[in-house]
Amino acid sequence: MVDSIQKAKLRYKQQLSAAVAARLETAAAVGSQPHFGTILENHSPANHLAGEREPATVHSAANHLAGEQPTNEPENSQPNGETVRALAYRIRACNQNQNLFAAADLHNAETGELYAGRGSLWCCGSRFCSNCVGRLARRSAKIAEFVFANQPAKPFHDWRFVVFTMPDNQLAGLPLTAQRAVLYHAWRWLSTKSEFWKKKVAGSIKSEEFTISAERANVFHFHSNALVFGYFLDEKLLKIEWTRALKISFARFGIVWHCPTKNGLADVQISRVSKSNFKQTVSELCKYITKPQDWQKIPAAALADVAGNPRFFRAFELQGVCRTVARAIRPNQPETAPQSQPTAANRQPDFQPNADQNAYVHTKQIIVPNFLLPPERNWKPPPRPRRKSWFLRISAGEITANDYKTELSADIENAIYFRKAQLRAKFPFAEFETLSGETF
Ligand SMILES: [Zn+2]
Repeated sequence: MVDSIQKAKLRYKQQLSAAVAARLETAAAVGSQPHFGTILENHSPANHLAGEREPATVHSAANHLAGEQPTNEPENSQPNGETVRALAYRIRACNQNQNLFAAADLHNAETGELYAGRGSLWCCGSRFCSNCVGRLARRSAKIAEFVFANQPAKPFHDWRFVVFTMPDNQLAGLPLTAQRAVLYHAWRWLSTKSEFWKKKVAGSIKSEEFTISAERANVFHFHSNALVFGYFLDEKLLKIEWTRALKISFARFGIVWHCPTKNGLADVQISRVSKSNFKQTVSELCKYITKPQDWQKIPAAALADVAGNPRFFRAFELQGVCRTVARAIRPNQPETAPQSQPTAANRQPDFQPNADQNAYVHTKQIIVPNFLLPPERNWKPPPRPRRKSWFLRISAGEITANDYKTELSADIENAIYFRKAQLRAKFPFAEFETLSGETF
């Protein structure tokens, strides 16, 4: 019998996603603030390092602050309402009844243990989707755990967990993506340019999150969390360096920033990480960038600003030796990572079969059911030619949101068919039931 608790959980996530999709549709109609996200993300750190001149558009955030209309924005800098609409459609498709399933009697190949689970057949992969965001967080956690377990020891090197805060005293009036960009570039400067950091830190794993101020609707409290591997970090010295990084980053936006604290330093909190508190630290590091409920509190224009980005913020980043270690695994193939071996102790209580697959229909090859695979263990189907992303096609006007909807429906149907076959082959004893009542 398929568990009703699993179904209830699916329905709850479905409701959250539907609310976000509805908000996105409103946002698409409302339009949005100037689109800083793309401009700043596209301005790659490599260009900074090469000493290239910043494009004039970077400073448009400052113009915005001064109430001026930005004049030098590139043509496509306004989020395309069509792409936001298409995104809303993808989220709705991901959360439709036919796509969500609960399962009973899934078996653990190692222990033979049976368990109940749930999942989705096709995944939209959006961070706005309650159904997909947890999977992304789990993938980040897997990478962090792998790095922690496989990082070779170095003399006098330890792991530390550092929270970098950003005082919000001069952020009011900046769009969400610009507020986030201040934090992002401060981190960039600290981790690539700071001499102090280079001397002390061998590598780091960084994530970020934001909360929404109850009193001021347009101020988002952004902060970065990082797992840092290196020598002892003096808190005072790190505070000085972080404050410097923030000043430099604010200056990029034409803002002369003064830290409002008594000592004039932005706060950082450092704590030691050991084997015993590591799991807890990773869950702190890899939790969602924001709770799905928070998307509903964000003003529609700000939401369109975030959704109008071709890529979501690079919230999870590895640097230095951590990056080198992480390259040994591919997150899409966790079976090669030692942590992912399911045991009774570490198995995810909520079975999410798609956690191991990137089921983006457009960029990844269609999954071939196990029973069709030749016996060689590592055989992979030949790669499908890469299709241009839906986002780029819609924003370039090659296809309308409505045409895309038709195209996507066919793709999803195809993906669902193969996914079902694959699940049946992988879990021959299990019983699957979609929310629409179909069993397979
Ligand atoms: Zn989704």
